[in-house]
Amino acid sequence: MSYLDVYDILVVGAGPIGSYLASRLAKEGFKVAIFEEDKEVGKNVICTGIIGKETFEKFNLPRESILNEIKSINFFSPAGAIFKYNPPHPLAYVVDREKFDKGLFQWAKKEGVETYLGNYVEEVKVAPRFCEVKVSDGASFYEKKAKVVILATGIKYKLHKKLGLTSPPSFLQGVQIETTLKNSLEETEIYIGRKVSPGSFAWAVPLGDSRTRIGILAKSKGTSYLEKIIQTRFKERLLVEEPQIRKKSIAYGLSRKTTGERVLAVGEAAGQVKTTTGGGIAYGLFCAEIAVKILKDAFCRGRFGEKELRKYEKLWKSKLGKEIRIGDYARKIFEKFSDSQIEKVFKFVKGREGLVKLLEKNFDFEFHSKFLPLGIRVFKEILFR
Ligand SMILES: Cc1cc2nc3c(=O)[nH]c(=O)nc-3n(C[C@H](O)[C@H](O)[C@H](O)COP(=O)(O)OP(=O)(O)OC[C@H]3O[C@@H](n4cnc5c(N)ncnc54)[C@H](O)[C@@H]3O)c2cc1C
Repeated sequence: MSYLDVYDILVVGAGPIGSYLASRLAKEGFKVAIFEEDKEVGKNVICTGIIGKETFEKFNLPRESILNEIKSINFFSPAGAIFKYNPPHPLAYVVDREKFDKGLFQWAKKEGVETYLGNYVEEVKVAPRFCEVKVSDGASFYEKKAKVVILATGIKYKLHKKLGLTSPPSFLQGVQIETTLKNSLEETEIYIGRKVSPGSFAWAVPLGDSRTRIGILAKSKGTSYLEKIIQTRFKERLLVEEPQIRKKSIAYGLSRKTTGERVLAVGEAAGQVKTTTGGGIAYGLFCAEIAVKILKDAFCRGRFGEKELRKYEKLWKSKLGKEIRIGDYARKIFEKFSDSQIEKVFKFVKGREGLVKLLEKNFDFEFHSKFLPLGIRVFKEILFR
């Protein structure tokens, strides 16, 4: 085997995070290949496609994927009271995930990443001087070698176990429909309450034309909660009689081990997902940048052992560990509130500009650890004063 046959880095999974990371690594001069089991990138992805505006601009993400802007949000209490949040600047973009994923995949190709679509990675073996990856192209198996392998496999954790990496401690259910509505929705709506989804929320996000994504994040029974929301709020407005309900698990909680000898996981494969909203794109992108930094260092030293790559885990957890833990804590507290308590908070907050401004000042679309303790304190003070 000549050294020319060995890649620097192989990436498993061409979701947004795998493609982004592959493109960044190739840009740094590494010899990179990416494998994706689907024949086409971004087809049939289940996602609402919300990405914070700041994150979108920071990473200069594919603009052709933008469908709409989220400028304001209407929060609905269990009894139907509305709190309208109208921030001074637009909060986020809503993207077409197929175009978004394809855009990032094109970035990787342009940077010279070798791409293998319709190729499933069956196994990753770590040998003393490289990793060996066994790939199926549907008809036969072949092998590739690399100094480092990156798992960007989303919620598929089969490869993790054998490599000593762990999956996230838990999962939420994300359930969604995309439909056209009579009198199309103008603004994003969020619904909360025990009958909506205990300790969680449902959403309706307009796509800028007559289409709307209506979905729910739930611990369990997600489909029946979503059906209830559709029945009570949208039945008369649905232009598609029986929109297809699509469901996917979402990683929840801090993964214990996301690196090993010559391997690391990134994106949802590493559980880099907000425990508050289930959003995973921003955290995955932030961590991809951390992976680039650590891998550059590892290649400079020619060291790819567990100790070296653990620096990546340390760094990403120092940035996001607190966020993930505090989101989980807030969710547990929120789960305990009754509908009448939520109603009381809605009533109190309405018209109190000063309080809203204070909350707003501490709000960041991606990082909630500053906002959540304040939010919990305000909730408790309103309820127990
Ligand atoms: C209903 C719902 C709504 C959501 N809304 C949002 C939102 O608004 N904003 C947001 O930020 N996030 C949202 N998310 C989460 C978001 O979709 C994920 O966090 C994001 O897709 C993770 O990106 P990724 O690249 O890590 O993984 P993925 O997008 O899952 O990509 C992983 C890729 O790896 C491939 N793969 C897996 N195993 C192998 C293998 N062995 N060999 C080859 N290929 C393999 C898969 O086919 C897949 O293409 C939502 C999720 C759900 C379910």
